[in-house]
Amino acid sequence: QAKVAGKNCYRFYSRAMDQAVERRVRLEQELRGAWERGELSLVYQPVFRLSDSRIVGAEALLRWQHPEMGMVAPSVFIDVAEQSGLIEAIGPRVLRAACAAAARWSIGSDPLDQLFVSVNVSPRQLRSGDLPEMVAECLRETGLAASRLHLELTETAVISDEAHASALLATLHRSGVKVWLDDFGTGFSGLSHLRRVPVDGVKIDRSFIADMLRDPDDLALTTAIIAMAHSLGITVVAEGVEKEGQFNILRERGCDLAQGYWLGYPVTAAEFAQLVT
Ligand code: C2E
Ligand code: MG
Ligand code: MG
Ligand code: MG
Repeated sequence: QAKVAGKNCYRFYSRAMDQAVERRVRLEQELRGAWERGELSLVYQPVFRLSDSRIVGAEALLRWQHPEMGMVAPSVFIDVAEQSGLIEAIGPRVLRAACAAAARWSIGSDPLDQLFVSVNVSPRQLRSGDLPEMVAECLRETGLAASRLHLELTETAVISDEAHASALLATLHRSGVKVWLDDFGTGFSGLSHLRRVPVDGVKIDRSFIADMLRDPDDLALTTAIIAMAHSLGITVVAEGVEKEGQFNILRERGCDLAQGYWLGYPVTAAEFAQLVT
């Protein structure tokens, strides 16, 4: 009896796994050329300064609208792009498009000239080595000031190869680009790395923000990250602010910047330009 069940179980598993593999292969095939076909686009989520509730920049987020599959979540296709190497073609295009969009936001008055755009950089792009040149080229081509570009690297990507990442980050730094650690707090790397890796900011992962009103541990951790980062002169960004209560507590604790659905959803470049003019 148990043997039969075991066998069925095995068959079931292998079919489920085949389907998962098939889906990945399909996604990879479809993702190839998706940019050229115009299926990939960027949306911009406003980032607010807590002290005066003003928009100070935006995070560029990639969207994939497939003609049959519909919207594919970035958590799914970014992973496929990363594993397959397609990210090496997509990443530079994202960067160029984001820089070009941000360069256009500065037509207006003074404060708008300061708006930043932050772009997510995947671990593979970080390892590839030509990131600093690619960044410099994008800035040159679009005329965007280096100080207005922020790169978001995940804590885990940076920590897993600290020596290489440190050197790369130092190079980027010298060019004037700012570097933020994304999903901060999830990598269990502790705050000590912040002293060794030259970063300008940390983005507290939204899982901590989500529970901070209920879970005293998450609130304590968030408060500790803010204090530690500030003692090192590092900017703190909270992501995933969905409630007014979270916003208020973060402001009270001295968090610098925040983004989230309560403050603003990701919107097209044109809609974002409207928001800030
Ligand atoms: P991330 O960099 O941590 O981006 C923040 C994610 O949280 C975005 O999801 C955003 O839409 C979502 N978000 C913002 N506010 C809220 C909120 O209040 N509540 C909730 N529940 N979610 C919120 P999205 O756009 O689905 O992106 C997911 C991840 O995909 C990103 O996480 C990033 O790691 C990756 N990604 C997106 N675009 C790019 C890209 O152009 N390049 C690379 N390498 N990765 C990207
Ligand atoms: Mg990000
Ligand atoms: Mg994040
Ligand atoms: Mg996250």
